[in-house]
Amino acid sequence: MPEREQSAARGGSPIGDMSAEEFRRFGHEIVDWIANYFENIETLPVLAQVEPGELKAQLPSSPPENGESMEAILADIDRLIVPALTHWSHPSFFAYFATSTSAPGIFGEMLSAAFDVKSMLWRTSPASTELEEVVLDWLRQMMGLDAGFSGIIYDTASVSSMHAIAAAREGVEMGVREEGMSGRKDLPLLRVYASEQAHSSIDKGIITLGLGQRALRKIPTDDQFRMDAKALAEAIEEDQRNGMLPFCVVATVGTTSTSSIDPVPAIVEVCEKHEMWLHVDAAYAGPAAIVPELRHILVGCERADSLVLNPHKWLFTPFDLSVLFCRQMDLLRRAFSLVPEYLRTPEQERVRSGSDYGFQLGRRFRALKLWMIIRYFGHEGLAARIREHCRLARLFASWIEKSTTWELLAPVPFALVCFRACPPVDVDTEEIRAKRLDALNEAIMHGVNATGAAFLSHTKLNDKLTLRLSIGNIRTSERHVRNVWELLNQQLKQLTQNLKPKTQNSK
Ligand code: PLP
Repeated sequence: MPEREQSAARGGSPIGDMSAEEFRRFGHEIVDWIANYFENIETLPVLAQVEPGELKAQLPSSPPENGESMEAILADIDRLIVPALTHWSHPSFFAYFATSTSAPGIFGEMLSAAFDVKSMLWRTSPASTELEEVVLDWLRQMMGLDAGFSGIIYDTASVSSMHAIAAAREGVEMGVREEGMSGRKDLPLLRVYASEQAHSSIDKGIITLGLGQRALRKIPTDDQFRMDAKALAEAIEEDQRNGMLPFCVVATVGTTSTSSIDPVPAIVEVCEKHEMWLHVDAAYAGPAAIVPELRHILVGCERADSLVLNPHKWLFTPFDLSVLFCRQMDLLRRAFSLVPEYLRTPEQERVRSGSDYGFQLGRRFRALKLWMIIRYFGHEGLAARIREHCRLARLFASWIEKSTTWELLAPVPFALVCFRACPPVDVDTEEIRAKRLDALNEAIMHGVNATGAAFLSHTKLNDKLTLRLSIGNIRTSERHVRNVWELLNQQLKQLTQNLKPKTQNSK
């Protein structure tokens, strides 16, 4: 019997939602399911072992005419969905930036889904609006940022950075909000600067804002992948001489490929000299500033105009939750506030409304999960977990340093290790050797990933295929890091013969 009829037969209504009794039953079942999932997650392959199209082929192409039982739906989670998942919550997920949810964060999501508020105006959710202000102020204090910064929550760092650049553009007072940019002869080319290592979200933000990709000038980096502040100053001066209008610099604290830290104190000097907005992309590494001995990573940021960090990256917050701290909220508001008659409220002058500070009208109640996470773990509990991830990364890096067949390709300021295998390769030219090493490292990575026991990703540094091991999952322990080291060495052994010490090769 279809679920609705079953429900009706049990006294439920043929219209309306699931009965409270059923909700309770399946709710408990799902919480049990999630607890089992976490308990047994290491029996699952980290990287989904399915072919493209495999899941689609197993799903009906048209929707069910009548409701189905929750039993049938939940059975399909096990049968169809779980095998097609890459398990980000697996402790041996080391790819990209490893991240994870946490129990209080999941509870926050459950409650937020139940409340289902659209936090656009203060009155549509006073709790969401005010909790967001309070919890972001806690976060600001935990990071050691001064009270001049106010926070606002968006979904992702891509969106946070786009809003920061929009506020910076509003600040140059070129009437872009009213007049737009196209067809204007009075508007010089507006320029934004970021390093060659900056995240692609900056490029995308600039495209979205209609500035055009040519507005973004990429600044070279030094041998440790940090923006060259002198080259930045020269680029700005050259652009000014050519009649352009430099208005914003994006510095990165924790770049995506290597987690390098741009020299913010030197960059901020340049920005102040030219009266430019400084936005700091600390999407990955920002949460590390809550660890007292890592607070120095934000030196110089006290003079920045805005800074983004992602609790959904390294603060055990279920995706999504990104925080933009900004000194000039009035500019964000000037860029985005638009209140039609049907949204006007008597209290609007006295309260903050989230929709005034961004493109979106309705906003999720994201602050709830962050509030629950900070209260449950406490500042010290969160810092201890981040500190441990950094220790594990240093431990892994120390094995590489001691090895004769592996090498580090970047410093390890946080919990990301960039490395590669570099066994001796007997070939005539450096070019062929480089190609062989790239192919070998790629094969090692695919080999490890195919085991299902761990998942790594890669980047290119100085033209070398580079393996990345990122530690950020709340369940990752030393055992998992030792296991992946063993797996890497097994793959290397299988793929090479006659390994000679590093000193004998022609690096
Ligand atoms: N900035 C940096 C430095 C990143 O590493 C990333 C993603 O990894 C982003 C921005 C984009 O993050 P999001 O997915 O939240 O847009």
